[in-house]
Amino acid sequence: MYSDGRLLRQMVRAASEAGLSGIGIADHCIVSERDAMVAIRNDIGFTFDLTYERRRSAIDRLRETCDIRIYDAVEIDYDPRDEDVIDAFLDEANFQYAIGSVHNLETVNIHSESYFAKKSKTERAALVDAYFETVVELIDSELFEIAAHLDVIERNPALRGFATESHYRQVAAALERSRTITELNAGRLLDDYGEYHPSPSFLDVLEEYDVSVTVGTDSHTPAALIDRIPHVAEWFEERGIEPTELQI
Ligand SMILES: [Zn+2]
Repeated sequence: MYSDGRLLRQMVRAASEAGLSGIGIADHCIVSERDAMVAIRNDIGFTFDLTYERRRSAIDRLRETCDIRIYDAVEIDYDPRDEDVIDAFLDEANFQYAIGSVHNLETVNIHSESYFAKKSKTERAALVDAYFETVVELIDSELFEIAAHLDVIERNPALRGFATESHYRQVAAALERSRTITELNAGRLLDDYGEYHPSPSFLDVLEEYDVSVTVGTDSHTPAALIDRIPHVAEWFEERGIEPTELQI
């Protein structure tokens, strides 16, 4: 892929082998013009705004030879200060769908255990408050079809355990009033964390509201995709619900 995953054709082949009828390819993209974010973008090379047209032509070529649908999508880092540039980019690029994510707190990646472990409990609780406030703003902006990995902070042991029912209710209410839906994200299901996003207690709250959930395996490799699919299918079967299909 064009950010942090394996080659496009490998992912498409894996989806086909896993029995899927389609696969959405959502490369990471940072479009913020704020200095700190420009530095992150250049450090990690999430410059998909410059290369999406090349990927699009590659997807077009793949569509001629493969037997499943391929969706041309994007995952964008959200911050309320970047709404105008995000809106302009999405307008120009015209993806089939867009995923919005909050990946940073204080412009540090949420996965950084060493950075957040140094903070006091009170500071960490305040950061988790700020995280959920930003997620609500993301959902209210309606810039994206999907709000990603709603409680991604749980991936980091230093930030785990600070989310409250009140946070969950704020997010659930935002989803209920927005056209943006969320995903059942399996990105850390078979790893250290071992749960979906949203977590079981978060999902219990979401069930009280009128919200839709689609599926995101958050797979960066063919093996991850093939391993996660049966678990996700089982999850929906056990609960007797159908994942929401995006209207694309
Ligand atoms: Zn993400």
